[in-house]
Amino acid sequence: MDLLHKQLDALQRQLSFVAVDPIDWKFYVQVFSWSVSLFEAYLLLRQYPLYSKTEPPAALAQHFSKDEFLKSQKYGKDKAKFSLFSGLYKQIIDSAFLHYGLYAWSWTAAGKITAKLGYGPEYEITQSLFFAFVLFLLSSLPSIPLSLYSTFVLEEKHGFNKTTPALFVTDLIKGWGVGIVLGAPFLAAFLYIFQWAGTRFVPWLMGFMISFQLIMVILYPTVIQPLFNKLSPLAQGDLRTRIEALASKLKFPLKHLYEIDGSKRSSHSNAYFFGLPWSKHIVIFDTLIQQSRPEEVEAVLAHELGHWYYLHPTKMMAISQLHVFSVLATFPAFMHAPPLLRAFDFPKAIAARPPTIVAFLLFQMILTPVEAVVSILLNAVSRHFEWQADAFACELQDKLQAKEMEDMGDRLGRALIQLHVKNLSTVWVDWLYSAYHHSHPTLTERLKGLETFKVQRAKKAL
Ligand SMILES: [Zn+2]
Repeated sequence: MDLLHKQLDALQRQLSFVAVDPIDWKFYVQVFSWSVSLFEAYLLLRQYPLYSKTEPPAALAQHFSKDEFLKSQKYGKDKAKFSLFSGLYKQIIDSAFLHYGLYAWSWTAAGKITAKLGYGPEYEITQSLFFAFVLFLLSSLPSIPLSLYSTFVLEEKHGFNKTTPALFVTDLIKGWGVGIVLGAPFLAAFLYIFQWAGTRFVPWLMGFMISFQLIMVILYPTVIQPLFNKLSPLAQGDLRTRIEALASKLKFPLKHLYEIDGSKRSSHSNAYFFGLPWSKHIVIFDTLIQQSRPEEVEAVLAHELGHWYYLHPTKMMAISQLHVFSVLATFPAFMHAPPLLRAFDFPKAIAARPPTIVAFLLFQMILTPVEAVVSILLNAVSRHFEWQADAFACELQDKLQAKEMEDMGDRLGRALIQLHVKNLSTVWVDWLYSAYHHSHPTLTERLKGLETFKVQRAKKAL
């Protein structure tokens, strides 16, 4: 522990200028965030002309009817236009928030609310909770029109929307409810650890965040997800038998096998697993079951179980912990830095003793460009995991000595094509756009990959 703190202290000394130098942080954040937004807009403009192509890539030509392909192009075009607009709209609002000193205003407003309730400024955590609430309201209200448009105009037009206005409103209220019920205690505990552990908060906060994530692994499927969707046991039949057999051959600790009514909101489809190491649950979207044959859904599950076999979720979590650790390790330099708050229009009296939540929020904004790079790296890791999981499905026949799994790769290929066709997913993708945004390889890349695995295996067999 001491070694850790020594290293952390050394890092703080390197960054000690933050606490004294009057740097124009606000200007930097404006420049950074606009650069990221404009770069994203540039990516969309690179991708956009591809939606005008009239033929699918050669590898997919036989799987798409002309009509389906053109539908997917139209859908892609509409979504791209919407992304371009919504990206710039959000950026303009964020930029205006910064420009007009809205963060400082929100802190003062939260202070007034706390004072009305009879608490003074010494109740920093109470005021922080109201601050978070005020900011949450201010930032989520402008995005409601976007999500209304996306659901009831864009998705509706292309035949995906199943959400009714009543469901939209209840989803929104439930979402806010869950956010407050879970978010407020989380934030209070988070801030309390800072107060209690002083400058040595890093290991404590890491421990707290990991515990919180583990609790969420249990709470999310049992308490939160059922608020929004109905999970029912998958009916007896071919599909269930196949998946149970696959799970038991792989020694996957399958506890429950569910079908989820994803079709309640949208006809996009998928499958996933979750749970603790010794008790896992598999969830399959009803839409996937309706769209694909049992042997194809089995192949999708074979891919999913590949993620489990290679410990992908655990590895991802480890990487994200490392990320959180580096963020937290850098934070103390920004924690007691009056010039930072002054740069964002906070009054002198508040800037002199920065509230932790405010310092942390401003620090996060300063990290925008770093976060953009991190997300590109995370996508690259995730794409690598997708390859591994696809390869896993193809190798099952050897791993399990199961002749009947010989065609798993082909079945997976068919299922992926089906998913793409039914979801009207884009098949022409600009490489830079894909590198930045996509956590999965494109369909063409994956089909090529599946084909390569097959060839390699045949060579090995010779
Ligand atoms: Zn996957």
